[in-house]
Amino acid sequence: MTDSIHGIVFNIQRFAIHDGPGIRTTVFFKGCPLRCWWCHNPESHKILPEKFDGCNLRRGFDQSFTMNKDEVGKEISADELMIEIVKDRLFFEESGGGVTFSGGEPLMQSEFLTVLLKECKSLGIHSAVDTSGFTSEDILNQVAPNVDLFLFDLKLMNDDVHEKYTGVSNQIILKNLIELDQLGKRIIIRIPIVPEITDTNENLFAIRGFISYLNNVIEVNLLPYHRAGEGKYQRYKKENRMNDTVTSDKKNLENIRQFFSELKCKVKIGG
Ligand code: SF4
Repeated sequence: MTDSIHGIVFNIQRFAIHDGPGIRTTVFFKGCPLRCWWCHNPESHKILPEKFDGCNLRRGFDQSFTMNKDEVGKEISADELMIEIVKDRLFFEESGGGVTFSGGEPLMQSEFLTVLLKECKSLGIHSAVDTSGFTSEDILNQVAPNVDLFLFDLKLMNDDVHEKYTGVSNQIILKNLIELDQLGKRIIIRIPIVPEITDTNENLFAIRGFISYLNNVIEVNLLPYHRAGEGKYQRYKKENRMNDTVTSDKKNLENIRQFFSELKCKVKIGG
C-alpha cells in the first residue's frame, strides 16, 4: 500500500466513458492555475476546500465517499483514494478501462498524483492524466513515467489570445506537449470548441498544423462548449464571462471533425 500522503479532490465519478478508453473512474483534483472563460468546473479552481452556501456536492458522488455537503473539496489520503479506485477494478478489466486523474489540474498536486500513479501501475490499473499541460519540466518528468495515457488540452495557439482567455501563456504548455511526444507517451489531444474563441479558422489551422508534427497522438477529441456549468457560476457566486455563448451546431462540429481527420489518427466529437 501507499504511504500516508494526502491530497484534495472534489469528486469521484464512477463509470465514466468520456475520459479515456473503457469504463473509468475519474478522480477530480482540486486546484488549477488556469482560468479558462468556458470552464465548467469553476469550483475546481482554488486548491483548498471551499465553503459555499447550500451547494449540493453529493450529486454524481459515490455515497461512500462522504464529504461536508457545504464544502467543495475533501482532503483524502492516497490509501483511502486507492481503496475507492480498486472497488471498480473488475469494470476496468472487463472494459479495458482504468482510472483518470482530472480536475482542476492534477499536476498541481504532483507528489500526491505520483504516489497514486505508482500504486495503479503496481496493481496493473491503466492510468490517464487529464491535463492543461501547464506545469514545470521537473513535474512533467516526475509524473510521466507512470502515466499510461495523457489527455492533453490544446486550446489556443496564439499566445496573446491564450493568455487573454485562460490567464496564462501557452509557451510552457506547447513545450510540455512536445516533451511528452518525444518521450513516446500516448496522447489524446482534447480541443474545446468554443464559438468565436477557440473555434476560428486561424486557431484550428494552427492546432492541426502543430499536431501534425507530433508522433504519438493517438486521437483528437473535439469537446463542444456547453452551458452545463452556467448554474455553477451562479451557485458559487463566480463571474461567468461567457454570457450568451451557445454550443456549436452539429453541422459545424462535423465540419471541424472532417478538417482534423486529415491527421493520421482517430478524430471524434466528444471525449
Ligand atoms: S484548465 Fe480545465 S479546469 Fe482549469 S480553468 Fe481551464 S477548463 Fe477549467
